[in-house]
Amino acid sequence: MTSQLGTVERPLRVAIIGAGPAGFYAAGALLQQKEVSASVDMFDRLPTPHGLVRYGVAPDHQKIKSVAKLYDRTAADPRFRFFGNVDFGKDITHADLHRHYDQILYAVGAQSDRKLNILGEELMGSFSATEFVAWYNGHPDFADLEFDLSGEVAVVVGVGNVAMDVARILARSIDELSATDITDYALEKLAQSQIKDIYVLSRRGPAQVKFTPPEIKEFGELAIADVVVNGDELALDPLSAAEAAASTETQRNVEHLRDYAARALTNKPRRVHFRFLVSPVEILGEDGKVSAVRLEKNRLRADANGNLSAEGTGKFETIPAGLVLRSVGYKGIPLEDVPYDQRNGTIPNEQGRVKDPESGKVIAGEYVVGWAKRGPTGVIGTNKPDAGETVAMMLADLPTTPPAANPNPAAIDALLEERQLNFVTIEGWRILDQLEVESGQAQGKPRVKFTRIQEMLETLHAEIHLKA
Ligand code: NAP
Repeated sequence: MTSQLGTVERPLRVAIIGAGPAGFYAAGALLQQKEVSASVDMFDRLPTPHGLVRYGVAPDHQKIKSVAKLYDRTAADPRFRFFGNVDFGKDITHADLHRHYDQILYAVGAQSDRKLNILGEELMGSFSATEFVAWYNGHPDFADLEFDLSGEVAVVVGVGNVAMDVARILARSIDELSATDITDYALEKLAQSQIKDIYVLSRRGPAQVKFTPPEIKEFGELAIADVVVNGDELALDPLSAAEAAASTETQRNVEHLRDYAARALTNKPRRVHFRFLVSPVEILGEDGKVSAVRLEKNRLRADANGNLSAEGTGKFETIPAGLVLRSVGYKGIPLEDVPYDQRNGTIPNEQGRVKDPESGKVIAGEYVVGWAKRGPTGVIGTNKPDAGETVAMMLADLPTTPPAANPNPAAIDALLEERQLNFVTIEGWRILDQLEVESGQAQGKPRVKFTRIQEMLETLHAEIHLKA
């Protein structure tokens, strides 16, 4: 007789795809609950865990990264295993996971970015902010990008917190950055930066920005950059004034901006300009390289529900610029053999239960968390309740979950070895982590990251041989 799923004799076997915050909160929730006996295998295409905490969070926001300690605690549970450097859809397929796990949980985030869809977007010197972020944070896929910072003007499109991160990194002094875990190659490049003016463009007004008050406040405290805001662009129409009155966060954002507009410039060598009610309509180029951004001035237009959107006025201006960072949101990409909602860039789901988009029916044993579930919004902590919801569904579905054909954990190691995959375990990650922290200590930094997969694998190989 086979044992019941979720008992000590036959624990629930869960595969989590993606080792970012959403995946870790879900793993934590699964392993902390007491009703069901469960074990978790987490896969990531990179050798290192922690996703956006490692490769997204700005290097000058180290405190936010301390959340990784919580994930390390989850990873220390003997019922948890990590398989890094294993690419879902290539190294391990949906069919493999289906055979070895009772439930599959997708925690893959949003790996691409939204486009502006304007002329010149593909010119040299025009990047998505997500590329710039991944580059300065040492993401192996982006470590070879070349950013030309020899021009005096950079334009950042969008006013979310990612736009704040990239504008701030461009505005910071090398002294401010050198005590962070920003990569050495980025530090070197930024040390030669000629950028003096950084324009941050909002297509709507100051009451519709997406950044949060601590992020805008930080600009007032930068060592070598002043903030420039034109008070005329801060005027609120009645609907915007009502939006500001209804939200403390909006009110505080507007207050910070008004404070900047009222401040006298202190002649710092750099300036961050916040502009409102302007949309880029074309990125202009010379010899294939960005040379300027053409903007259209907007007005706000309310729809029947009172939502305010930007509408062009037919008035234009041009800002000469050598670098454009488009920061208009992340977007998910489809996974092999997994449903995908093209419009939202998410995996279609109902409270985290994956749905077949055609029949609208829930697919047994398949779940989703984080940005892949709800789209690219919210801070790291938002993923905790989000994961809680999905895990509650997973546990509630246990009686109807079809058990895996081969749930033996050893079968996974055997499969990966048979395919000659160089996978990295949690012990491997701990070695890399320790080496990074040690080389950081020698330089007064939190860590010095490995930025090449090959280097990580070779280091592990050497370390393991050393210990053997
Ligand atoms: P976001 O908050 O959604 O902001 C996207 C920005 O792009 C908005 O200002 C949006 O304006 C603008 N935009 C979109 N399409 C545009 C277009 N065609 N032309 C001009 N502007 C356009 O996205 P995000 O900044 O990528 O951040 C993603 C999530 O990560 C957010 O929840 C954010 O708070 C979070 N995050 C948090 C931190 C932190 O806590 N420090 C740091 C980084 C990221 P509209 O409003 O007009 O659409």
